[in-house]
Amino acid sequence: MPHELLTAAEGIQDWLTTQRRTLHMMPELSLHEFKTSEHCANEMSKLGLKVSKLWGEGFVADLDAPNGKGRVALRADMDALPITELNDIPYRSRHDGVAHMCGHDTHMTVLMGAARLLTERKDKLTRSVRFIFQPSEELPPGGAPGMIDKGCLDGVDEVYGLHNYPQIEVGRISTRVGPMTAAADIFEIKLIGRGGHASRPHDTLDPIPAAAELTGMLQTLVARRVQPGKAAVVSVTKLKAGTTHNIIPDEAELMGTVRTYEEPVRALIIAEMERMANAVAAAHGLKLHFHYIRGYDSIINHEAGVSAVARAATEVVGDANVSTDFEQQTWGEDFAYYLQNRPGAFFLLGSGNKAKGITEPVHSARFNVDERCLAIGTAVMSRLALG
Ligand SMILES: [Zn+2]
Ligand SMILES: [Zn+2]
Repeated sequence: MPHELLTAAEGIQDWLTTQRRTLHMMPELSLHEFKTSEHCANEMSKLGLKVSKLWGEGFVADLDAPNGKGRVALRADMDALPITELNDIPYRSRHDGVAHMCGHDTHMTVLMGAARLLTERKDKLTRSVRFIFQPSEELPPGGAPGMIDKGCLDGVDEVYGLHNYPQIEVGRISTRVGPMTAAADIFEIKLIGRGGHASRPHDTLDPIPAAAELTGMLQTLVARRVQPGKAAVVSVTKLKAGTTHNIIPDEAELMGTVRTYEEPVRALIIAEMERMANAVAAAHGLKLHFHYIRGYDSIINHEAGVSAVARAATEVVGDANVSTDFEQQTWGEDFAYYLQNRPGAFFLLGSGNKAKGITEPVHSARFNVDERCLAIGTAVMSRLALG
């Protein structure tokens, strides 16, 4: 027999679908979630929840348990991406060049659904519930630090978040203990020499051989410096110098990404990378600009939080559909910062459906979800909040 909360969530499937499609048609970019935030805040107010604006367009909505103790927080992100949607659907994005291709419309809908079910079960709440609607997940440094700074976790004991995931079939839930997503960083290196005529290299300080050497050396970082068994990625993704065949250019540029799961590995790579860049520049008599931009930290799921997600998910979708050893992901998510401040967990909500051809990954212009995930997400988040 299906769980009572899943039955209730499936009972409001039409409402959930309408909410999601409404948001889907009016996507807004990071830090511009004006109408999106207003829409969600209105829906939360209609349910009788207390809405407080915190940071940018971000807000929290509080459902107080009359007889409860403590507070749990559930988080959704609100921003869309600068992509033109290529899906031919009646509820296609109405804003050219902007679309909910990461499915944050799904996350907001799940939170509104959970707010609806939990409001109807207010007398059963053993603790209060805070719904966090966060702006700007897609734009580093992210909306999470701002929301936390402004107090979205004040009085909160635990925090949970989810991401829809089309590579997992709808009806399944996946998570893992410990590092779940990567710290996704960016590096920019400039080697500055002195250009000149290609026929007179001795009069120049040529940055090109140095850039080529440094590119090769950076490939040895993971293989020769990182302890075997620790995961890391260093990719040089841009190498730029020169304009034509007979000019030695003044400078060469390297750019790329570093993905790690543990701070000591990350710190080691940054230090080694800078040391190599300095050494190569010095060997060639060049000046160096080294710029390292830290992206979001890695999401580190707490063990008790993962157990709570697994319990709630098992009740809703059954043991066979819950995985707690999902592989580490190389993408980043600013939910990391909530878990640095409070216990809890982040999990993936299956939203794909191979039979229906719903398999496009997030950030693809043809991304979509199986909308059955709305009811499942709603039921799991509600179950989690009920404790
Ligand atoms: Zn995204
Ligand atoms: Zn996302």
